[in-house]
Amino acid sequence: MTLSCVGLGANLGDPHAALLRASEALETHGGRGIVARSSIYRSAAIGPGEQEDYLNAAVTLHWTHQAEDLLALLHRIEAEAGRIRAQRWGPRTLDLDLLTFGPEQLHSATLTVPHPRITSRNFVLLPMIDVLGGDTRIDGRTLEDWLRSCPTNPIERTSLAWHGAPSRINTAWA
Ligand code: ADP
Ligand code: MG
Repeated sequence: MTLSCVGLGANLGDPHAALLRASEALETHGGRGIVARSSIYRSAAIGPGEQEDYLNAAVTLHWTHQAEDLLALLHRIEAEAGRIRAQRWGPRTLDLDLLTFGPEQLHSATLTVPHPRITSRNFVLLPMIDVLGGDTRIDGRTLEDWLRSCPTNPIERTSLAWHGAPSRINTAWA
């Protein structure tokens, strides 16, 4: 069993509902289920063109299979949320990234772990610190260290909750 950290991001449609549904799907299908959820953050989009703000979060879960199987589950949940891979770093209804898989370092054509852009993104680092702790080491430095040195993209912690009914029903999940 491996403690794995998954990053969640959304900036199209109803991002809060997308995060809640993704969390429910991970709870249902994610091995032994979710261990911890971060706060939900709002961040300015980086990437091509004008985009809506993102909601970002992270969860940890106990996974009992291979990392590739978890990535396949993340892709299935993204697809069910209506994600179309149109443009790299373009707007998306749901982005699920496999951030860490225990202490493992993995490099294949489809999967790099730890996720290569953790250390340069405050909207990944802040939620990760919530669920893993700031002392956790990635690529030889702590998450707190990386946070101090990474670009200060605009970000705020929201008071949005994980519980309660989604404000809108996404028919892709009906
Ligand atoms: P990004 O999340 O960087 O904006 P995408 O979500 O479109 O981009 O992912 C592009 C590809 O990255 C996926 O098809 C996936 O195979 C690959 N990938 C490699 N490592 C990871 C990882 N740790 N988590 C998620 N996807 C990964
Ligand atoms: Mg992704």
